[in-house]
Amino acid sequence: MRIAVIGTGYVGLVTGTCFAEVGIDVTCIDIDAKKIENLKQGILPIYEPGLEEMVQRNTLKERLSFSTDLPASIQGCDAAFIAVGTPPGEDGSADLKYVLAVARAIGQNMTNYMVVVTKSTVPVGTANKVRAAIEEELAARGENIAFDVASNPEFLKEGAAINDFLKPDRIVVGVASEKAEEVMKKLYKPFLMNGHPLIFMDIPSAEMTKYAANAMLATKISFMNDIANLCEIMGADVNMVRKGIGSDARIGNKFIYPGIGYGGSCFPKDVKALIRTAGENGYEMRVLKSVEEVNENQKSVLFNKINTHYNGELAGKTFAVWGLSFKPKTDDMREAPSLVIIQKLLEQGAKVKAYDPVAMEEARHTLGDSIEYGKDEYETLIDADALLLVTEWPEFRSPNFTVVKKLMKEKVVFDGRNIYDATEMCEKGFTYYGIGIKRFV
Ligand code: NAD
Repeated sequence: MRIAVIGTGYVGLVTGTCFAEVGIDVTCIDIDAKKIENLKQGILPIYEPGLEEMVQRNTLKERLSFSTDLPASIQGCDAAFIAVGTPPGEDGSADLKYVLAVARAIGQNMTNYMVVVTKSTVPVGTANKVRAAIEEELAARGENIAFDVASNPEFLKEGAAINDFLKPDRIVVGVASEKAEEVMKKLYKPFLMNGHPLIFMDIPSAEMTKYAANAMLATKISFMNDIANLCEIMGADVNMVRKGIGSDARIGNKFIYPGIGYGGSCFPKDVKALIRTAGENGYEMRVLKSVEEVNENQKSVLFNKINTHYNGELAGKTFAVWGLSFKPKTDDMREAPSLVIIQKLLEQGAKVKAYDPVAMEEARHTLGDSIEYGKDEYETLIDADALLLVTEWPEFRSPNFTVVKKLMKEKVVFDGRNIYDATEMCEKGFTYYGIGIKRFV
């Protein structure tokens, strides 16, 4: 089989590469000529564990190629996957201009039947807009080429994207014809070997499933953060509460870790878009509005602890920041809580020295020279007044605390992810602040 994947970002590149890995002939297309040139040389635009090697292997086998030429690349394809960005518009709704531009380009250039699959996260009703855009372009050409649209939302997690794609919890596909269902079944058959379900449904339900999934995950995070904040006030320990509730199978122990708020390119924009979709259709998403509000508040929680500890006198203080990406194992800085914390510290005249295992380059694009960058996590600690653990990269979990203590001016740790044990930190001689636990001095 032969497919085109249009948009070669986190989702498109992983999708294309994983389809090539199972033997499908894939062309990944992007309008960013530099990105495509680099990919042809095996240089990736993003960090994703295991992806570089997989791209290089499949390129060598000539199952995976890269192009800026959409008209040529979609010829003879069984399916064209749209995987371009759907950033939030000013009003919070998903901006569909990139998706619809691709749909138009497909309509202007297709010469054979294909399934046009939307992989980008798009509101209910988008497949109809994609269909209409293609039909319009075909009509303008005076052509009557048959095609189908399908919705195939992507659930991969950055940092574990390859595993998620190759061994998905489920694959959701919305179709409106048997022919499209057959094509999608054939494409995904190699991924179903270990009993991973391929769930077919109508297109609006598939479109809604992606938003419902992200909204539910964001809700879990904000709920736990709210509980954590109350634990602090009431003298309870949220780590214990988490274990206590997580052992109930109906609740489960995943995704109930408190922290400093969700970020990234998906949860914030998808929660916003769902609230917006509901509003446009006369319905108010009351739970999600609170989820957003709690999350905004949570991004300031670590800063507030710092500010209180220093009685608001942060000018001239130096803070070591460990972790910049919005979560571990990715270089994605979009809506990262680190940005909010650093911004607030800088506004107060504090100095920041940061280190992240892979997101330093991305961080430089956003933060420029406003902060210093350490060559490793230890270097950031030299003469630091406090350590801020912002992203829970595995390498930050068990540092050599003797060295840490020696390097720091003041032995104060603000742990935004509760990765250290409060009692142990106290015994080691640190003043320790976590999230949702009482302060240990
Ligand atoms: P991204 O910004 O990393 O990549 C989008 C790519 O599309 C860019 O390389 C851009 O140059 C390209 N592009 C834009 N217009 C184009 C055009 N007309 N023709 C060809 N290429 C074009 O975005 P992403 O993070 O991969 O997200 C893509 C979609 O997938 C979004 O809707 C997002 O919500 C959804 N999604 C993302 C994730 C994630 O973890 N990043 C997970 C699931 C779903």
